[in-house]
Amino acid sequence: MNAILSPDQYVVIGNPIAHSKSPAIHARFASLCKQHMEYQPLLAPLDGFAASVAAFRDGGGKGANVTVPFKLQAYALATQLTARAQLAGAVNTLSFSGNEIFGDNTDGVGLVNDIVRNAGKTLKGKRVLLLGAGGAARGVLLPLLSEQPSELVIANRTLSKAEELLVLAQQHGAGSVKLQACEWAVLSGRFDVIINATSASLSDELPPISATLFDAHTLAYDMMYGAQLTAFLRFAQTQGAQLRDGLGMLVEQAAESFYIWRGVRPDTAMLLLELREALELP
Ligand code: NDP
Repeated sequence: MNAILSPDQYVVIGNPIAHSKSPAIHARFASLCKQHMEYQPLLAPLDGFAASVAAFRDGGGKGANVTVPFKLQAYALATQLTARAQLAGAVNTLSFSGNEIFGDNTDGVGLVNDIVRNAGKTLKGKRVLLLGAGGAARGVLLPLLSEQPSELVIANRTLSKAEELLVLAQQHGAGSVKLQACEWAVLSGRFDVIINATSASLSDELPPISATLFDAHTLAYDMMYGAQLTAFLRFAQTQGAQLRDGLGMLVEQAAESFYIWRGVRPDTAMLLLELREALELP
């Protein structure tokens, strides 16, 4: 008689969590890749992240995505960290094996894969501008440097935070990449890729940047996505730049987590189209 194996269990842990698109994305990946697994949202109390993870692990859980506000706690909980998680100072992917908790951060590689594979824009040898120096900017630093742009400029409203990222990048080996940290007013020359990692888009604000940073060859990338173009993308549009929102980053970071857990890389192109249509995004 054949025993029926129960599916491997995964969750996305956050607070709030009901809005998360990760369960739908991973269910689609599992079906596309024929993986026997289940992926559920898990609401953890604000003061109960570690206990929620422990209970899930004890019940046989294999892995978890971690979202707001627990990425720093996940970093602290992990017994082993990848280099990109160490530089990010935050973890969005946990894998459980024996007594070990492996922590990784797939946000940065998600961004890079979306730019390079989906948008078809090479970063190697290019002039790249990163707007913002918060958690999202920090998370993408190492994967961006790994692509070896000729120059990476980090601009932020609070200069000291951009300078902190610059030091981190130098410590982790920026190689031949020319690094600079600055305030908005100092920015000059056109860039090949401009990534908006500020949360200004959440309030439909625009970082005070000059139109001269863009031309028709510039890829303007906003990590946020929504039914309308963000103020940053609207501004870039008026300069004739190429536009991309953060939906692809969301899907690609999920694909990287899936790969870490299952050893299979799902095809993201179809899902990205489906999701854009379902969410009625531009
Ligand atoms: P943080 O709160 O850690 O950092 C916010 C950053 O935005 C800081 O650099 C801050 O500058 C800057 N900022 C805030 N308001 C303004 C403003 N009005 N004008 C200019 N700069 C401003 O946020 P995160 O780094 O976690 O998130 C940033 C964005 O990235 C969010 O929109 C988030 O939704 C998105 N994101 C998307 C992901 C995806 O998968 N698509 C994944 C992760 C994040 P200062 O230092 O001066 O305060």
